[in-house]
Amino acid sequence: MDKTLLLLPGPVTLAQPVLQAMARPMINHRGAAFGALLGRVEAALQPAFGTRGDIVLLGGSGTIGLEAAVANTLERGDLVLSASIGVFGRRFADIARAYGCTVEEFATPLGARIDAGALRERLTADRERSIAAVLLTHNETSTGVQNDMAALAPVLREHGALSLVDSVSGMGASAFAMDAWGYDVVVSASQKAFAAPPGVAMVAASARAWQRIESVTTPRFYFDLRRARAFKGNGQTPWTPPLPVLFALDAALERYAAVGLEATFARHDRYARAVRAAFEALGFTLFSRPDAHSVTVVAAGPPPGIEAAALLTRLRERYGVVLSGGQGELAGKIVRFGTMGDITESDVLGAIGAIELALADLGARPSVGVGAAAALSEMVRVEVGT
Ligand code: PLP
Repeated sequence: MDKTLLLLPGPVTLAQPVLQAMARPMINHRGAAFGALLGRVEAALQPAFGTRGDIVLLGGSGTIGLEAAVANTLERGDLVLSASIGVFGRRFADIARAYGCTVEEFATPLGARIDAGALRERLTADRERSIAAVLLTHNETSTGVQNDMAALAPVLREHGALSLVDSVSGMGASAFAMDAWGYDVVVSASQKAFAAPPGVAMVAASARAWQRIESVTTPRFYFDLRRARAFKGNGQTPWTPPLPVLFALDAALERYAAVGLEATFARHDRYARAVRAAFEALGFTLFSRPDAHSVTVVAAGPPPGIEAAALLTRLRERYGVVLSGGQGELAGKIVRFGTMGDITESDVLGAIGAIELALADLGARPSVGVGAAAALSEMVRVEVGT
């Protein structure tokens, strides 16, 4: 199938001007035009992050941003509380372990978001303030769960531990107020809600995090945030930047700003609600708990009698609709539908129609059109605000 509808939770479908930007001629990365681009990208990202502080760009995928967050703020032997809610949270903890930190796990059942009260209890019990940092995931892509970052923020502030936040698949799709909430290091990446190609990670740090970044002795070089910030001051990056990705990110952020934050948040919410409604009407089981739904990825178990892998294959090969499967212990158990990128209501509805067709091909017989009808009524309901 040549024509595909990419609905992964990243990388995402890109708009034509964003794709075309990657074909621009290279420019001098030590020249004024590059400095202006870097300034535009940072200025466009700041409202989404909810910060007036520095946002450093690193060449690489989101993981380089997470590794930079750890290597630049933590020391070997530091006690780190990992409040993981899935595969990506565990990976963040693995990075901390790789740098010699002692990781304590703060467990949350899969599918649930972090319970702010329980986290407060654990942190209050740390009277000695031996926990140096807490690792958090804003939006856990593997389970379709979004944490309530506004509710967790005061819990972190009361304790005083450094907060390191993975918002790779959350940032830009719903409100985030880094400065007001008091988070210390927040990481995102180009290929998710900002609707640009993969290849650039973004790292924002609070004033106290920058103090820490200046003082920790952990070895770092390529992603030394001190060096990245110093070069940014001169409109440069320390190393040759991924220019095509940055051209595309610049173009994507121009489109993002033209639509506006609120409308972008509402769109992600509307699509995710529509997909959830369709899945439920078609007999899928939503994986995220009712108070924990993500706006960027909907994770659900297939209807009884349907294999997730067979459904994904049929969708891709016969209907050109590309969704994701489960990761880790959820491999083969769920499908994941991404709502980010340059997609429209009709793309979402088309994909739901294709899911109905694929289910019928595989022998399931939901009443024709129930998924699409549920999605449509959710879209209309959300649109008119009832
Ligand atoms: N964290 C989350 C929540 C993610 O969704 C991803 C990628 O999907 C990552 C981290 C890793 O990012 P990357 O694959 O860009 O390195």
